[in-house]
Amino acid sequence: MSKLETAGTPDAYAEERKDLLAALRSRGVRDERVLKALEAVPRERFVEPARADLAYADQALPIACGQTISQPYVVAAMTEALAVAPHHKVLEIGTGSGYQAALLAHLAAKVVTIERYPTLAEAARERLQALGLKNVIVLARDGALGAPEHAPFDRIIVTAAAAKVPPALLDQLAEGGILVAPIGSAGGVQDLVRLEKRGGKIERQEFMAVRFVPLLPGVAETH
Ligand code: SAH
Repeated sequence: MSKLETAGTPDAYAEERKDLLAALRSRGVRDERVLKALEAVPRERFVEPARADLAYADQALPIACGQTISQPYVVAAMTEALAVAPHHKVLEIGTGSGYQAALLAHLAAKVVTIERYPTLAEAARERLQALGLKNVIVLARDGALGAPEHAPFDRIIVTAAAAKVPPALLDQLAEGGILVAPIGSAGGVQDLVRLEKRGGKIERQEFMAVRFVPLLPGVAETH
């Protein structure tokens, strides 16, 4: 019997979760709020049931629709770079499993997350609801257009790779806001970029190399 089946309590994975947190700390993740959120969100519920035993390995895993749930270290580093405060409204592009959105829900006042596969959006919505996370809205649409009806956003995180940041997202970023995104060639290696909007200008920093699935145009029809 797998741990997922024995898990009436979320704590069949407590020890593995603790080991992962220790590994993330030793790789340099320092933000205590981020670490606490990582401790609070059961990653095993966001991976395919058949891969639950790998839920706390520090690696990306395949999910439905040919997409991936990102590697915990990359999620932690991006979330740390985003510097989310409890009063923030956050936009995520690329809901995928909903794991990053769940972390953000623990850190922010409100989260809007956008996914182009309706199937993934629905599954993420159900997971977030089952965890009692009520401050997240999941939208099935093209994330490159953002969510103007909910803008401006204090923080924006893009979890799919693009050659450049979609202009609509920069427009929807509040003054003083921060945007984190993997920028570079789809199918290759990208740079994680942190943009900060100050006095109408954009300051740019690059902080690590990553490999994300591509940001694709439009809403997916086939799933
Ligand atoms: N943040 C996710 C992992 C992201 S994988 C998690 O925590 O599990 C990248 C996701 O971006 C995929 O699910 C992919 O379908 C989605 N995506 C790609 N292009 C998109 C677009 N234009 N708008 C919205 N979502 C998009």
